[in-house]
Amino acid sequence: MSRILPLLLLALLLVGSAQAFVRHDPVPGGVALVPLSAESERAVQILFGDRPVLASFFDGELRAVVGIPLDANPGEHRVVVTMDDGRARSYFFEILPKEYPAQRITLPDDRTVRLSEEDLARFHRERPQILAAFATRTDTWHVSEPSLSLPVAGRFSSPFGLRRYFNGEPRSPHSGIDIAAAQGTPVVAAAAGMVVEVGDYFFNGKTVFIDHGHGLVTMYCHLHEIHVSTGQQVAREEVIGTVGRTGRATGPHLHWTVSLGDVRVEPLLFLNSRDLGRIGVSDP
Ligand SMILES: [Zn+2]
Repeated sequence: MSRILPLLLLALLLVGSAQAFVRHDPVPGGVALVPLSAESERAVQILFGDRPVLASFFDGELRAVVGIPLDANPGEHRVVVTMDDGRARSYFFEILPKEYPAQRITLPDDRTVRLSEEDLARFHRERPQILAAFATRTDTWHVSEPSLSLPVAGRFSSPFGLRRYFNGEPRSPHSGIDIAAAQGTPVVAAAAGMVVEVGDYFFNGKTVFIDHGHGLVTMYCHLHEIHVSTGQQVAREEVIGTVGRTGRATGPHLHWTVSLGDVRVEPLLFLNSRDLGRIGVSDP
């Protein structure tokens, strides 16, 4: 049963959800569900560092839903809740250490590792557009189910957080999960929302970004075809495109990223056990 919130003010922070739409896993790249006092329902701002975070009722208890960056240091952290009368209160929580696997790839020709000046210029042109899409923050919460839907069934081929090295040079860690599937397999929206950006990028290929509200954004990459356009409302599990290998991809697969409050986090935390089973992942 979802909760009706009396004030517009609260609707900016609180999302109605009787069951958790994400699991608690307080590690770098994970999500912390931080219990708040009941009076925090009257909060006007909830911050983790300088990032606003959303709050939701889970089984009747109010919790801040904190996306933890991959580069966060383990140890004690806090969210700061500012009330409508100006008082602020800190709620402390522990970030636990997590070691992500590393992948070292040796390529015979260094030129395939280093980008040409032209490609680098293109990457720098595209990057602000991608970052802006992740930074989207709108006030309508579109997630009505206790989990996100799996965008495509297939073989789980690369985990979130993988630390990659090409010829010894570090690349940014893997910001999502890869699911290998045949080219042309339909890809569906993980939840209802609005398409905030559609592009064809050097690394990510044909890509769709969907805003689900309150800083929850999902990204779908390397698509063969895109069936939606910017500004379009999509329903949960509506087909948004098909699996492909556009951009830098060695074979057809979907790269799927989940961003919470502009922080890229582990997508598996948002899936139910049935969907995890569909990609051969046992319940974490
Ligand atoms: Zn990927």
